[in-house]
Amino acid sequence: MASTPPFSDEHEQLRQSIRGFVERELAPHAQQWEQERWFPDEVFAKMAAQGLLGLKYPEEYGGQGGDYLHEAVLCEELARIGSGGTAAGIGAHVNIATPPIWKFGSEEQKQRYLVPAIAGEKIGALGITEPGAGSDVAAIATRAERVDGGWVVGGEKTYITNGVRAHFIVTAVKTTRDGGHHGISFLIVERGEGVSSSALHKLGWQASDTATISFQDVFVPEENLLGELNEGFKLIMANFQWERLAMALGAVGAMALAWERTAQFARERQAFGRPLSGHQAIRHKLADLATSVYTCRCVTHDALRRFVAGEEPLKEVTMAKLLTQRACFELMDECLQIHGGAGYMREHFIERAARDARLGPIGGGSDEIMREILGRALGL
Ligand SMILES: Cc1cc2nc3c(=O)[nH]c(=O)nc-3n(C[C@H](O)[C@H](O)[C@H](O)COP(=O)(O)OP(=O)(O)OC[C@H]3O[C@@H](n4cnc5c(N)ncnc54)[C@H](O)[C@@H]3O)c2cc1C
Repeated sequence: MASTPPFSDEHEQLRQSIRGFVERELAPHAQQWEQERWFPDEVFAKMAAQGLLGLKYPEEYGGQGGDYLHEAVLCEELARIGSGGTAAGIGAHVNIATPPIWKFGSEEQKQRYLVPAIAGEKIGALGITEPGAGSDVAAIATRAERVDGGWVVGGEKTYITNGVRAHFIVTAVKTTRDGGHHGISFLIVERGEGVSSSALHKLGWQASDTATISFQDVFVPEENLLGELNEGFKLIMANFQWERLAMALGAVGAMALAWERTAQFARERQAFGRPLSGHQAIRHKLADLATSVYTCRCVTHDALRRFVAGEEPLKEVTMAKLLTQRACFELMDECLQIHGGAGYMREHFIERAARDARLGPIGGGSDEIMREILGRALGL
């Protein structure tokens, strides 16, 4: 495949290699993992063996020494598993749980958490959302009380991806009694005494492990403070742009795959003596959907190009997240329609893809929050 900016030939070679791995090792199990509402932990080890849990991380920590463009290729290609839940579990580990440790962690924290995470030996989760605080991050109520040698944590996180299986949870806590953004800190909480998880069942992303995590008087040692005390909000903000780009890239990958498979179906399925694609209404629908895939890809890749060039493309990333998540859901619905009754059957790929795509406009900052950010960025 010819490369187009911001990707080079090297990235396209990586894409082919990841695609082969995904089609050989992951996609054949997608249906089973969805039914079992779980994908095995060994997936992390398999990914690590291919170097896929550390594409953007330095070699000294076991990473591949690449950058965000290499990671972007992975984000797009994971969609080809055909299981949004499996892609989400892997994505949470590489795109939201480990980046704060890489950027803000001490050397000792990197050795203890980042190195085994890249090796697929420890699985990470990011715990911000709570039953009483989602979009309004500043309203979190999980408390960390200072004690000799560390903190004692009490509270509850919810909707946490990898929340049952994670060995460590990068957790947002309140370290002062003041309200607002100030007084949030991050602690790396290891699974152990006082930490309990309960699995949640969902509309889509069935294979991913989503949980409520309770912390009951959990002692967290001093050395597990990540970044500066009371400056945790900065840490949240630091990775938001990448998290949202990763979601946009995932949507672009999922849309491209659904289009290819639906076009193939439309060429093969006969109705009224000709293939579905021989009917103008269906042909035009597929033309519109191809335009949507292309538009989403262009907007996302433009935001990505700016991001890797070191700009702070808040507006462009926010627009990419806003545009792609809703467009992806709408495309899945249209593709399902083209499949007719087959599209409504449980575990048909498009039935799953349509359910999986519903999360996009909610997670990682909802559509409404994206519009709020854009409103401010546009001076409104
Ligand atoms: C499957 C799944 C996986 C997730 N994984 C993680 C994870 O790994 N870690 C983690 O920390 N969180 C995770 N989340 C949480 C996710 O980020 C939140 O669900 C999301 O931020 C929205 O928060 P909320 O659900 O509390 O909704 P709320 O904030 O309660 O919002 C409810 C509705 O009100 C709207 N709304 C809120 N504020 C405004 C406003 N000012 N103006 C207009 N409308 C507004 C929202 O857009 C939404 O439509 C996950 C969620 C799901 C469903």
